[in-house]
Amino acid sequence: MQKPNSYLIKSAQSVLTMDDDRNEHTVYDIYIRDGVIADMGPDLEVSGAEVVHAETCVVTPGLVNTHHHLYQTLTRAVPGGQDALLFGWLKTLYPIWARFGPEEMHISAQVGLAELALSGCTLTSDHLYLYPNGARLDDTISAAQTVGMRFHPTRGAMSIGESDGGLPPDSLVETEAHILEDALRLIDTHHDPKVGSMVRVGVAPCSPFSVSRDLMREAALLARDKSVMLHTHLAENEEDIAYSLATFGCRPGQYAEDLGWVGEDVWHAHCVKLDASEIELFARTKTGVAHCPCSNCRLGSGIAPVRAMRDAGVPVGLGVDGSASNDAGNMVLEARQAMLLQRVANGADAMSAREALEIATRGGAQVLGRDDCGQIAVGMRADLALWDVSGIESAGSWDPAALLLAGPTSVRDLFVEGRQIVRDGHMTTIDLQGVINRQNQLARGLAQ
Ligand SMILES: [Zn+2]
Repeated sequence: MQKPNSYLIKSAQSVLTMDDDRNEHTVYDIYIRDGVIADMGPDLEVSGAEVVHAETCVVTPGLVNTHHHLYQTLTRAVPGGQDALLFGWLKTLYPIWARFGPEEMHISAQVGLAELALSGCTLTSDHLYLYPNGARLDDTISAAQTVGMRFHPTRGAMSIGESDGGLPPDSLVETEAHILEDALRLIDTHHDPKVGSMVRVGVAPCSPFSVSRDLMREAALLARDKSVMLHTHLAENEEDIAYSLATFGCRPGQYAEDLGWVGEDVWHAHCVKLDASEIELFARTKTGVAHCPCSNCRLGSGIAPVRAMRDAGVPVGLGVDGSASNDAGNMVLEARQAMLLQRVANGADAMSAREALEIATRGGAQVLGRDDCGQIAVGMRADLALWDVSGIESAGSWDPAALLLAGPTSVRDLFVEGRQIVRDGHMTTIDLQGVINRQNQLARGLAQ
């Protein structure tokens, strides 16, 4: 009798395990059952499993996206923001985002999650920090459930509006009491700490320039009390550093440390401008970084010192960042960009294709506090990406497993928790064309 969610991935051309020894195998089988990798090896004999022929495929762990704002897929390439710096870009988009509601959050999340899945991502975080017109974090959690993505949504927040000297309009900020109350509700309703969890909620005030010092501190206390993770934007560009020095009288690293925002249960997005002492602080405390190379290029923020962070022992993952500042959300292209950008800064030997892929897989899993995924090994969750290297992108490659140098930019098949959510390049879980059509309708409505 055939068991549900039981697959034998047969004769993979190569398997990049990203396990503790970074083993690579050729002509190899992987047996997945009940959401986990049950066995692996050459010529496995298994009965009752659906066979997935992988002779032309490189198999990697599913990619892990550690920073995103899924709702922004609805405001890609908005003309007024296309060429603006960070703060000007935000000011262009805030009034548009203020018109979002629950459906906009749900559909835009489905689009962003499907885009990630098709590019090899099996686990993503999201940072939603505005809740206009009845929108809730729950709208994105339900979207992840329809797509079948492993999801770490974070309860973002902004509390300092324009009238208090902040950047966002007053209509997009919330009271700090409500923010904390809603974070508690979300954790109690959705957070699952167990092995194999499909939803883990984090607490994530938007940035030091949009909430008070009190909220940062209270958020850290709440997160530790509930054993959930903390996330925010930090040290994104020069304006950000200048703001920190002028407003708090210290650099962002010091600000974070003073408020309890360091530790292995914390990860910060960007960190483009961390200096040597901040890198040392992050390494010592195992504070994670979500490196977002395309967004950093797009907004002209600079090149994050990823080589120095990795050498010092800082946990680093990758993030596509919001789709309004990238404006794409392709995870494997993000990994390629990470590799290229470190070479721009430090030379051609600064980061290999395999190291960038490692950051995109086990690196991201570490940043998100997951020791049950991010690598291919028996007992790990069955989150796998199959890349067909028989196409034009790999033709002539002497090392098809060096995917980030020459390889496909979308997956043939994707498994999340042992479930095949992409098959032959198509989503199996949602009517993708219907979702795209609705997204475009909503975008046209917002543009009027
Ligand atoms: Zn961001």
